[in-house]
Amino acid sequence: MLLLLFLAACSAKQPPFLQISGSTMGTSYHITLRQPSDEWTEKTLKEALDLRLQAFNQLASTYIPDSELNRLNSAPIGEGHAVMPMLFDILLLATEVSWLSNGAFDITVAPLVDLWGFGPVRHEVKPDDKAVAAALEQVGFDQIELDLLDKTVLKNRKLHIDLSAIAKGYGVDVVALWLESLGTTDYLVEIGGEMRVAGLSPRGDQWRIGVENPDVSNPETVPIRLGNIGVATSGDYRNYFEEDGIRYSHTIDPNTGRPITHNLASVTVLDPSCAFADAMATAFLVMGGDKTMKLAEQLQIPVYLIEKSEAGFVRRYSSAFASYLEQEK
Ligand code: ADP
Ligand code: MG
Repeated sequence: MLLLLFLAACSAKQPPFLQISGSTMGTSYHITLRQPSDEWTEKTLKEALDLRLQAFNQLASTYIPDSELNRLNSAPIGEGHAVMPMLFDILLLATEVSWLSNGAFDITVAPLVDLWGFGPVRHEVKPDDKAVAAALEQVGFDQIELDLLDKTVLKNRKLHIDLSAIAKGYGVDVVALWLESLGTTDYLVEIGGEMRVAGLSPRGDQWRIGVENPDVSNPETVPIRLGNIGVATSGDYRNYFEEDGIRYSHTIDPNTGRPITHNLASVTVLDPSCAFADAMATAFLVMGGDKTMKLAEQLQIPVYLIEKSEAGFVRRYSSAFASYLEQEK
């Protein structure tokens, strides 16, 4: 009898994997999931998903003039402004990462991003010290007060809040939770390079992903094996400009008001919350290799770094990351 039951369980056919892709948040998304039930097709899933992503953008985008975030940005200074619970949650998480990273992560950094030409108006002119000092005056995550009881946000001064460095990761979490609510336990969700995986891959075992090598002349990936977890990567090698041999990255150090110029090429962070991983990846990129390793060991965060050196690219990773690396054969 026991044996029969076992056989029956084995022969129960698993639903197939489906794939959907599209665009959102100025980038692309790709999702692979085991079909939640017969009612769902790739087409109906994509339709429902796109509506959800639109709703999320209506909350957190700075590109939609009347988004919930832009309403907060234009709300009066010094008064509590009620926001939707999900936006409040993103702001809370962003603030947590700001404190953890000693201000390396800062969602009010936009005036500096714009000044250095990485905002909506692209340019490659290096600003002078006076302009940097003036922009720094308008930056400070600690000028945002979050009232946990009323879910209101108070700005102590004029601020331009931009969630670019956390929104993709948060969006990945929103999509993953939605898929789980449909009954799917096996999936990969990816938005603009940030991802979250759960359960099994179509190959029938754990998901494996590769960390891209920033050296295009020597392409190679570092394979990592993942259970249920979010993965985010920040790198300075795609978005930058060069002047007098110095490379100015689009990631700004809010403590100096200047783009980072150290040798950290890419940071990959793992965390059950893809939003946290996304924000921490940006924070670590700002902090640089040594400070990152120290904080990652303190907090036991799995982090993988690729740094430029004269001898080429060098890798190091925190002890919490080791168990995710595929054993080299
Ligand atoms: P990417 O995946 O493109 O590398 P990130 O998640 O690192 O993106 O976020 C980059 C964006 O975050 C920038 O375009 C800018 O708007 C914003 N940003 C730049 N510096 C910081 C910072 N120190 N803290 C928070 N956001 C930042
Ligand atoms: Mg980020």
